[in-house]
Amino acid sequence: MIDLHIHTTRSDGQFSPEETMRLAHQNGVTTVAVTDHDAVSGIPEAQQTACAFGMTFFSGIEISVQGEKELHILGYGVDPQNEELLRFCRKNAEDRKKRTQKMLVYLASCGVPVTLEEVRHINQGRTSGRPHFARTLMAKGYVSSVQEAFEKYLATPRFYAEVERPKPTPEAGIHVLRNAGGVAVLAHPHQLQLDDEAMERLLQQLKGYGLQGIEAYYSLHTAEQTKKYLVMAQKYQLLYTCGSDFHGPDIKPRIALGTGIERNLCIPDQPICKNLEEAIAARRTY
Ligand code: AMP
Ligand code: FE
Ligand code: FE
Ligand code: ZN
Repeated sequence: MIDLHIHTTRSDGQFSPEETMRLAHQNGVTTVAVTDHDAVSGIPEAQQTACAFGMTFFSGIEISVQGEKELHILGYGVDPQNEELLRFCRKNAEDRKKRTQKMLVYLASCGVPVTLEEVRHINQGRTSGRPHFARTLMAKGYVSSVQEAFEKYLATPRFYAEVERPKPTPEAGIHVLRNAGGVAVLAHPHQLQLDDEAMERLLQQLKGYGLQGIEAYYSLHTAEQTKKYLVMAQKYQLLYTCGSDFHGPDIKPRIALGTGIERNLCIPDQPICKNLEEAIAARRTY
């Protein structure tokens, strides 16, 4: 089984890189990648654990970029010591810190005040992601689920207008990934809620910037949606990948590592693994 979209405590996931890789192995995953938001610090620990369990491991990252819509781009095979990539991660971490300060003011103005200490207390000292705030709002009894926290406070027009951090353009983001040796893949395409024509236009545009793949297999895709993205991958000569977007049961309770929602993922690791290995190897020689 293959899972190429996984978060750990190095961004907004629940488990450490080591714990996460152990769980992947327990669940029957044989090819794995970690893809923390704007972070590569978990890669060495995850790689060491994954390899000790005999799994095939890809380094990875998930970045957020702002085009007409916010897109998430996965980068596979990135060098976690690449200077430009590390600078990119540091800049995003600083912007997240600034957003955290604005978030505290914003939530107070919404009548649901939280303190940084409360967020830290609930999230192993981490405060960088919106899910960290969502869990805090839940723990304080303001909302009854992470989803509700997003709907009411963390994904509202006012949030995006007043609080959200700046993001790079798709072109700039993809270039950072490629310059670090990475293969860029569009994450969870269906989340963009584009009609087929607009999706195809977007794929062509992103391919022009260096996009090489699309996450056709994804926990929240129906079988029909997966098929549609597989057809688009073939039409535009893109790789297709498979990822659960596992964050841990406290954050995304329905999504299981490797197997997705009610075992709707469970995808064999070949040929996805081999195709990705080849694409990464080809990037290294250029
Ligand atoms: P951030 O990168 O801190 O802005 O947070 C983005 C993360 O929030 C994503 O990885 C998702 O896990 C989560 N997220 C975004 N929108 C929603 C939503 N509507 N419901 C639940 N989780 C969400
Ligand atoms: Fe996340
Ligand atoms: Fe994402
Ligand atoms: Zn993700």
